[in-house]
Amino acid sequence: MPDGLPKGEVVLRGIPVSAGVCRGKILVLHRNKPTAPKRRIEDGDLAEEVNRLERALVQTRHQLTEVQRRVSEGMGAHEAGIFDAHLLVLEDRTLLDEVVRVIHEQKVNAEYAFHTVAERYADTLAAIEDDYLRERANDMRDVTLRVLNNLLGHEEEADLRHLKEPCIIISHDLSPSNTAQLDRRNVLGFATDIGTKTSHTAIMARSLRIPAAVGLGDASVRLQTGQYALLDGFNGVLVVNPTDQTLYEYGQLLRKQVTIQERLRDVLLKPAVTLDGHRTFLSANIEQAADAEQVKANGAEGVGLFRTEYLFINRDRLPSEEQQYQSYRQAAAALKPLPVVIRTLDLGGDKLLAHMPNPQELNPFLGYRAIRFCLQERDIFREQLRAILRASAEGNVKMMFPMISGLDELKQANDLVEEYKAELRAENLPFDENLEIGAMIETPSAVIVADSLAKRLKFFSIGTNDLIQYSLAVDRMNEKIAHLYEPTHPAIVRLIRQTVTAAHQHNIPVSVCGEMASDPVLAPLLIGLGVDELSVAPSLVPPVKFVIRRLKLTEARELAEFALGSESASQILARCQELTRRIAPGLFETE
Ligand code: PEP
Ligand code: MG
Repeated sequence: MPDGLPKGEVVLRGIPVSAGVCRGKILVLHRNKPTAPKRRIEDGDLAEEVNRLERALVQTRHQLTEVQRRVSEGMGAHEAGIFDAHLLVLEDRTLLDEVVRVIHEQKVNAEYAFHTVAERYADTLAAIEDDYLRERANDMRDVTLRVLNNLLGHEEEADLRHLKEPCIIISHDLSPSNTAQLDRRNVLGFATDIGTKTSHTAIMARSLRIPAAVGLGDASVRLQTGQYALLDGFNGVLVVNPTDQTLYEYGQLLRKQVTIQERLRDVLLKPAVTLDGHRTFLSANIEQAADAEQVKANGAEGVGLFRTEYLFINRDRLPSEEQQYQSYRQAAAALKPLPVVIRTLDLGGDKLLAHMPNPQELNPFLGYRAIRFCLQERDIFREQLRAILRASAEGNVKMMFPMISGLDELKQANDLVEEYKAELRAENLPFDENLEIGAMIETPSAVIVADSLAKRLKFFSIGTNDLIQYSLAVDRMNEKIAHLYEPTHPAIVRLIRQTVTAAHQHNIPVSVCGEMASDPVLAPLLIGLGVDELSVAPSLVPPVKFVIRRLKLTEARELAEFALGSESASQILARCQELTRRIAPGLFETE
């Protein structure tokens, strides 16, 4: 351990979001951007100030070429190409001459001069109505940050895609796109100050099977890079400088976990059927085509939710129709004849494009998001719908619209699908004429008009992550009110029942693809309420199936009746826990 760091055991508690235990050195990411305070430079020192600037520019150029080389090796020449634009900024003589002029004329330090001039350039570029130039503004800001770090002698911020050694990341927050890019070989786990179980960062961690805890308060301020820690993703605990006793206890816990995994292996290839013969369709949620392998390996019966956003947010430009088609086709072909439900783009909220200016919204989750974004950004939507339609020729593809809040949106989206089908027919491009279209039920208004929606759709999928936040008015990202985010709230139970009733009246099935379905404790309640399909994180398919196979439909229905008549979220939760602990006692030994 580095000198000067506190040595006693410290336990920080947060919210568990991704199972597993890991231990290793901490890497603390700092979120504060360097500032460039103004200093006056004496006449005799101005030449040296310009020299400092030149040295920092050379150093930055070396760093960028090195990053470019690594990205090219790891991800390909195309991805590495984005750094060309960064290198060009360092060679922009108009910009650099102006920085030198400011140093001389205003007699100020290099970092202040560079920051002021580069920010002015970036602001001008960002204000122009042109996507290409706006992107250059982002390049300019990235490079400015690197040059400032070098002038100020700060360590280069860790590149999460290429870490030098295995570590546990501690950060105030991690964006979903940063999480998706984590260097899997070297990230043992991560813990953040803020966040909740249903934030997309948490969902991503589960999908990558990286142990994680969020909502730890001030971990990123209290802890220091180099400290040794143990992260318990089962219980949301970070133990810094664990004692031998703590390490021993965690050794025991891991042994129990191995036993649980062995028990779960037994159910992998078996169907999700209750003891009294009721079949539930158990599928998985994926974030990228490559996850299809995980779907099969964990014994899921298809994909109930393919979140397509990650194809968009982790690149320097929008994916073309062809690139999307290849990705959707890959998932469909890998799982054929199992179904793959491809959800159209659900950008907005906490999922933002890195390469487009982000709208400054007061309430992003109530804003320019999902189907609302797509119905306005017609070119983007058109390419995606065509790509999904084309992929439907290659497997059992279904399409699903996110965040439908009323009939108008559904009609508009359906009309567009018809228009693009006609285009494809005219171009002789094949697609499945009978492609099924469904919608996510994740706004209270969609539940209320579910009967109108059901007449025009082939299936519903309840997005409890959003349905809970919108119905209970509890931001799914805010750890301070995480205790109010209650999946077993009587209102949620009744909304789910209402959705099931409307769907079944029109003979269409209902799935739940929000995180509520991934919780083995809550699966019996959903089945009792009449839900036909559960779509869960791949790694949670086995425990959910394990519970279903030990359940009787009669018990699940009794539980649902109790919940529908109850006035208390905690009472409903207690009954769910009682039932699952009774029928599947071996599953809960890591708590
Ligand atoms: C949901 O809201 O429950 C859902 C599955 O969609 P997402 O988590 O991507 O918003
Ligand atoms: Mg949602």
